Formats: sequence, C-alpha cells, structure tokens
Amino acid sequence: MHILLTGGTGLIGSHLVPALLAKGHQISVISRDVAAAREKLDSRVTIWSGIAQQKDLNGIDAVINLAGEPIADKRWSEQQKQRLCESRWQITEQLASLINASSQPPQVLISGSASGFYGNSGEAIVTEEDGGQDEFTHQLCARWEALALAAESDRTRVCLLRTGVVLAKEGGALTKMKLPFKMGVGGPIGSGKQYMPWIHIDDMVNGILWLLEKPTLRGPFNMVAPYAVRNEQFAATLGHTMHRPAFMRTPAGAIKLMMGESAVLVLGGQHLLPKRLEESGYRFKWVQLDQALADVV
Ligand code: NDP
Repeated sequence: MHILLTGGTGLIGSHLVPALLAKGHQISVISRDVAAAREKLDSRVTIWSGIAQQKDLNGIDAVINLAGEPIADKRWSEQQKQRLCESRWQITEQLASLINASSQPPQVLISGSASGFYGNSGEAIVTEEDGGQDEFTHQLCARWEALALAAESDRTRVCLLRTGVVLAKEGGALTKMKLPFKMGVGGPIGSGKQYMPWIHIDDMVNGILWLLEKPTLRGPFNMVAPYAVRNEQFAATLGHTMHRPAFMRTPAGAIKLMMGESAVLVLGGQHLLPKRLEESGYRFKWVQLDQALADVV
C-alpha cells in the first residue's frame, strides 16, 4: 500500500514508520520541516512539504493523520489553545476534502483523537458509546473527529484513535513523569484517585496496523490498555519500577499554579476501556502496567 502519514516524525509516527516499512508499504510523510524530517526518517520514506498544491489523493491507499501541536508542553493561553486546535483541524479538513475530491480515494483514513474526547469522566466506566463532558479537550477532539468523518463514504472508511497516554522509552509524557521520581520526589498528583488511561507504544503501533488491515473496522476506537489504573497506582508502579520513592504527593493547588487550565490533563482522567478494539479481536501485547513500565523505563 502507499500510505500517506502526517505526524510521521512524532513519538507515535517514529515507531509506526519502521513497522509500516517492515510490512513492505510505501510511505510518504507530510512534514512542516522537510530537512529535519529527512534526518529523522528512513531514506525509503518520501517527504512532502505540504498538501496545499494537491488536487486529490488518487494513488494513495491509506492516510494516517497524527499531526498536532503537543498538548501538554505549554500553558493553555487563548493563543495556545487556538494553536492546539488549528494544528489538528486544518490538516484534517484538507485531507478529508482531498479524499472527497479523489476519483480513486484511499480505502481508509485513520485519524487522531485522544482520551480527552471524553473530558474528565470521574469514576464512570467509559467506552466508545459514551459522549464527552463539555470541556476544552472534548471540543478540540470532537471537531477533529468530525472533520475526519467528513471523508467517510462507501469507498473510504474512517477510524478515530481515542488515545490514552502513550508509554515509550524515549519521549512523550513518561519522560516528563519520570523526572520527579529520579529526583526522589515522585508520587501521586492531587487526590491520586483520577484514572489514567495508558497504552504501550507497541500496542499503539500494532493497533493502528490492525485498523489498517481490517476492512470492516470504522469509527472511534479507545486506544488504551484494558486495565485502567488510578494516578496513585501509576505513581506507585513507576516508583517501584525505577526503584525510587513514590510517596511525595503533589497537591492539586501546586499543579494548578504550575499548569493553569491544562492541569485538567493530570488532575482529571477517564476510566476507559478499549471495548471496540477488543471486540474486533485485537489482542493486547501489554495488558498490565507493571510489565509495560518494566519494558519502557
Ligand atoms: P508528537 O507531539 O510527537 O508530534 C506529532 C507531529 O505533529 C510532530 O512530529 C510534528 O510533525 C507535528 N506537529 C507538531 N506541532 C505542530 C504544529 N504546531 N502544527 C502542525 N503540525 C505539528 O505527537 P505523538 O506522536 O505523541 O501523537 C500523535 C497524535 O496523537 C497527536 O495528535 C496527539 O495529540 C495524539 N495523542 C498522543 C498521545 C500521546 O501520549 N503521545 C495521547 C493522546 C493523543 P512535523 O514537525 O514533521 O511537521
């Protein structure tokens, strides 16, 4: 297959690209910085600087759309919120309109979303059948998904990745989470009772390949491991894995002071289940958090 990828230079993309190449696929990556992408990516990957000049996506068999400004790197000023939205909405809208303009459109668009689609859902067990709380992350994800779904037709299916925290050796949230533990001041955040949906990078990649290869699958998929944990359990397991103390609780007030509105990312959470992925027959490689962390830490 010829697969067009956005976000191919990112955390998930950098693991996905080698997996797609190993399966013999032809890969084209859209990147804002062609030279930097060339450095990061395998020489077999073609790099596109954009799709503004593109009239259609004839000849592309599948599109995987992962691009977006990192969600937790900066405080959410109004300007930053706009950046978070536009960096996802714009490219998704462009891709959907090119798919719709194609006489031979791609068979599938697999497009990003996040567990934040559901907002902070407290103690409730949440599956793909549930809606989201009306919060910023829900608004961002709901429109991101809607723009992707505009490409849905009898010739193109659309799969939406409602992804939890991706655990990988390098980069992503885990690198930041490990810091206080390294310094001996790790522990739960706020009450510690909030759920923290997580997924090992292997399952993120394998899950995307699964959606790519199963022509009957479409719609939203919670990309999270089957056993959700609370923040306090995550902290205890991370401390144990790193052989570091894990009892220094960071009060919610301090987190709010540091992160502003984006504190909701760590003080809230979702008890998410990967219902549709499991029902489709996908078998997770990493089910238990202690084993997943032992692999990546
Ligand atoms: P990354 O943050 O690693 O980056 C993805 C890519 O997006 C970058 O490589 C970059 O590509 C592009 N990008 C970055 N900033 C912008 C911007 N301002 N405008 C346009 N493009 C930009 O993402 P991940 O691989 O971690 O995640 C992929 C998607 O999955 C993201 O949309 C993310 O929101 C979502 N997700 C990820 C989770 C995680 O834990 N990793 C959890 C939940 C959702 P380039 O520089 O080549 O243009």
